[in-house]
Amino acid sequence: MKRQNQREGLNMSVGDSALKAKNHLSVTVIGLGPMGKAIVNVLLDNGYRVTVWNRTSNKADEFLAKGALKASTVSEAVTSNELIILSLTDYQAMYAILEPISEQLSGKVIVNLSSDTPNKVREASKWLAEHNARHLTGGVLASPPGIGNKESITLYSGPREIFEAQKNILDVLTSTSYKGEDPGLAMLYYQIQIDVFWTALLSYLHSVTVAKANGISAQQLLPYVSDILSSLPRLLEFYTPRIDGGMHRGDVEKLAMGLASVEHVVQTSIEAGIDASLPAAVRDVFKRGVSNGHAGDSFTSLVEMFKKSAV
Ligand code: NDP
Repeated sequence: MKRQNQREGLNMSVGDSALKAKNHLSVTVIGLGPMGKAIVNVLLDNGYRVTVWNRTSNKADEFLAKGALKASTVSEAVTSNELIILSLTDYQAMYAILEPISEQLSGKVIVNLSSDTPNKVREASKWLAEHNARHLTGGVLASPPGIGNKESITLYSGPREIFEAQKNILDVLTSTSYKGEDPGLAMLYYQIQIDVFWTALLSYLHSVTVAKANGISAQQLLPYVSDILSSLPRLLEFYTPRIDGGMHRGDVEKLAMGLASVEHVVQTSIEAGIDASLPAAVRDVFKRGVSNGHAGDSFTSLVEMFKKSAV
């Protein structure tokens, strides 16, 4: 069925059309980076009529053969459909695109799947409301190949009735999780998870670099890194009630031990002749905790230090 729709573009059977017409059958997607492209592909595969626009216009061409409509201006893209999905680098890009045609936003539903801060999202939601457009925030917790996969999830927030009204089309992209009316909430949950995501992945890349400098391939390292990562949920479960209870007793490990341990990682990197700046940054955080008098406390006492702005 999916393949068939892909080949035949919009030539769906009458039954299919009637089924899809209950939802938004027609949608505009603005932004054709890797994520926007994945979104367009999945929508086309599922029989949606998709109008696309991108700043670098030739990125839209690959979708023409699959039945997408290429808008030649932003104005055309926005007026083509009530529902507009944005997939852009950040919210500044949204203003760059929509501000010049803001008088055409009235009555539109903007589902913005771009990343930014919760406050930037709240401001954007107000700005759109001032132009009589409704806004739903989305934080996509999946890479482009995960679009169209039910195991992937996107967090949404904003007016519940907008989420409910668009749920059918949003479910085509990934599973959905509605976080509440505050437009910033989905972005807050998203950024909290991306905080872990990038830091963890960077540490992985650094460990691969140490391994390769010692003649161990990424493939050989894979089971070891997977083991350490899969042990983390147990640690999180252990530490979570202690952190919520403000209890940072050094009965299992002490920050001073952590500092010595991270120093060994720094020195192992230096011995390997590679860039040690990432573990050195971690070491400096541990050092500050020790200087603040927490040498005998658990490393979780760093939470208290993180509460105060340092940058
Ligand atoms: P990219 O940054 O590669 O592409 C973003 C799009 O934004 C492009 O279409 C680009 O246009 C457009 N754009 C950026 N700045 C402007 C501007 N000033 N004016 C007009 N258009 C602009 O991002 P991705 O496609 O990878 O991701 C899209 C969003 O999804 C991001 O917010 C990202 O954080 C999020 N995301 C991405 C994931 C991924 O793995 N890729 C995973 C989860 C979330 P042009 O082509 O002309 O440069």
